[in-house]
Amino acid sequence: MLPPRLSRRSRRKAGEAAVSARQERARVKELITKGEIYFFDLFKDERKSILRMKLIDLLQSVPGIGKSRAEVILDRTGISHSRRIGGVGHRQLELLRQEFLLIKNSPKSGRLLVVSGPSGVGKSTITNKLRNDDRFWISVSATTREIRSGEQNGVDYHFVSNEHFDRMITKNEFLEWASFAGAKYGTPKKAVNDALMDGKNVVLEIELNGARQVRKNSKNAILVFIKPPSWEELTARLIKRGTESEQSTQARLDRAKEELLAASEFDHVVINHQVDQSVSELVSLALR
Ligand code: 5GP
Repeated sequence: MLPPRLSRRSRRKAGEAAVSARQERARVKELITKGEIYFFDLFKDERKSILRMKLIDLLQSVPGIGKSRAEVILDRTGISHSRRIGGVGHRQLELLRQEFLLIKNSPKSGRLLVVSGPSGVGKSTITNKLRNDDRFWISVSATTREIRSGEQNGVDYHFVSNEHFDRMITKNEFLEWASFAGAKYGTPKKAVNDALMDGKNVVLEIELNGARQVRKNSKNAILVFIKPPSWEELTARLIKRGTESEQSTQARLDRAKEELLAASEFDHVVINHQVDQSVSELVSLALR
C-alpha cells in the first residue's frame, strides 16, 4: 500500500520541523563541546530531537573523547553503535559513567596507527623503536605460527594453538584477524581499547587484509604503508633475515607483490630507506 499523500502545507511543516530538530541537535553538540552542558544531563531531556540523537555523535562531542574513544567506549560497554539517546538504559548509563571516570585520568585520547607493508620491509624494526616512547603502545598480536629463535611469548606475539585462536574468533575477541603464509594472526581487541582509553597512541603492525578490516571499522585510524626502496632490496632483506624456510620465503614474496599494489589504499606511504628516518615520519604522522 502506498503511504498517504501529504498536502503541500503538511510537507512544508514536516520540512520545517526537521530543520529545527537538526539545528537543535547541532546546538546541543556545540554546548557539550564547550562544556556548557553536562553529557549525563541530556538523558533527562525529553525533547524528541534529543531522544533521537545517536549516542555516538553525542559522545564524540565530549571534550577528551573524540572519534576514536567514542568507538572504543561503545565497544567496551557493549552498547550498539547505532543506539539513540532515548534507547540508553539505566545499566548502560552506569557503564558510561565508569568510562567517563577513566577519561578524567587521561584527558587526551590516543589514535590508532596501523603500520602495514610487505614482509621483510622492516615494519617490526620500525615499530620496535617506539617501545621506549611512552606516548605509544605497541599491540601484541596472537598468532598460530611457530615461535622463531630469539622471540619471546607475550612480547613478540602471544603464540597460541589453532584451537585457541579459533575460540578467540568465536568469542569476538579480535579487532581484526587474517591468514598469512600458512598461519593465522590477530589483534586482541580488549588490550587495544584499554590502551586507547589510557590515552596512548596504539600501533598495530599488521598485514594488508587486517589493515583493510581496521579501515572499515575504525574511521579515525591512521593507515601507514611502509614501502621498500626497491623490489630487489625487499627480496635481499627477506632472504638475509634467514628466518623462513624456502617455501615460506616464496609465499611471502608472492604476497608482497599483491601488498605493494595496495599502497594507494593507505593514508600515507613511507619509503623505508633508513629506519630512524621512517620512525620519525611515523611519529609525526601520529602526533600531528
Ligand atoms: P611474521 O610471521 O613475519 O611475524 O608476520 C607475518 C605478517 O603478519 C606480517 O606482515 C605482520 O605484519 C603480519 N601480522 C602480525 N600480526 C598481525 C595481526 O595481528 N593481524 C594481521 N592481520 N597481521 C599481522
